[in-house]
Amino acid sequence: MSGQQTGAGEQQPHNQRDLKFATKLLHFGAEIDEATGASSVPIYQASTFHHHDIYNPPVHDYSRSGNPTRQALEDYIALLEGGARGFAYASGMAAISSTFMLLSSGDHVIVTEDVYGGTYRLLTSILNRMNIESTFVDMTDIDQVKQALQSNTKAVFMETPSNPTLKITDIGAVTAWAKDNNLLTMLDNTFMTPYYQRPIELDVDIVLHSATKFLGGHSDVLAGLAVARTEELGRQLKMLQNGLGTVLGAQESWLLMRGMKTLEARMAHSEISARKLSRWLSERSDIAQVYYPGLENHPGREIHERQSSGYGAVVSFDVGTGERAKQVLSKVRLPIVAVSLGAVESILSYPTMMSHAAMPADVRHARGIGDGLLRFSVGLEDIDDLIADLEQALQN
Ligand SMILES: *Cc1c(COP(=O)(O)O)cnc(C)c1O
Repeated sequence: MSGQQTGAGEQQPHNQRDLKFATKLLHFGAEIDEATGASSVPIYQASTFHHHDIYNPPVHDYSRSGNPTRQALEDYIALLEGGARGFAYASGMAAISSTFMLLSSGDHVIVTEDVYGGTYRLLTSILNRMNIESTFVDMTDIDQVKQALQSNTKAVFMETPSNPTLKITDIGAVTAWAKDNNLLTMLDNTFMTPYYQRPIELDVDIVLHSATKFLGGHSDVLAGLAVARTEELGRQLKMLQNGLGTVLGAQESWLLMRGMKTLEARMAHSEISARKLSRWLSERSDIAQVYYPGLENHPGREIHERQSSGYGAVVSFDVGTGERAKQVLSKVRLPIVAVSLGAVESILSYPTMMSHAAMPADVRHARGIGDGLLRFSVGLEDIDDLIADLEQALQN
């Protein structure tokens, strides 16, 4: 860890890893500046560092290779996910693309079919040109994962719950099988965050985040994070992060840590509201379908409950037709109508015309993303106000 306990000499240094999650969020090791006692990590706005002694180079010598503010964030996310090392990148896609650089030309990867659109684009428009092949499978069915194995398969990429229909992958079943076959496992944990789901505890090798969403939590910073389960994988990711230069800046690193301190408070509050919203929606006869892992009839509920401690704050629902979806989008007054999710303010998205607009209509429909599907990321507003607003927007 980069920071130590400071202040009172008689204070026993504690092992951060033994603390409960909520305490780790505030006492992650670098919360007090050693030099001044300042109550937040200093923003080291420097690209390079003076060599006081040419024979004894400083710990950080150049900010692409290492910056103390970014280092504090990297140690912070490693602590929260329970991994060996963390890394911070300019965006979620920078984290994901840098991690895929572990693969080489000729390799094959098995991927969740309803993976984030940017990951899909990376694999099918960029990495395919580098002769990295991918097969997309419905990961709710472990047999489909197994059947996709080829002699050149090197990795499995999971995203659970998936977007926008919140399908659940059995993480432990995939990692057990992957281990038997010497495959690297990666998991995009953006929707759950380490508060609700810690994939490394289920043997996932690399956890990835768009920290732009729940970790940042305020729709004001773009960032990505990766956590390696082992020191050896950490060493490889470090080489790639430095070699590719996909790093997060010092200001953004600070802003992200500022947001992360309230992760549990925000997630817990939004989840209570999301449960209420999902129940309210599923009791309405004019809603064709509601997708939320906390609902009794969610097909992946039992598996999700085994591997996660909560259901999250994203609720998707189908209002029947594209016309009706557009009506709701134009009539709602409280949520911002936008791509993205995971913020203090509620965000209402329309996958058909936003995140999944590039997907051919037949493929989209086959994946349950109908023209009437809306995705609600529940923020911190009073849920009664959000429901009343949605009710008026649904009225003809
Ligand atoms: C937003 C998102 C990403 C991409 O992150 P950026 O920060 O936008 O680059 C990746 N995965 C998931 C699940 C996301 O929601």
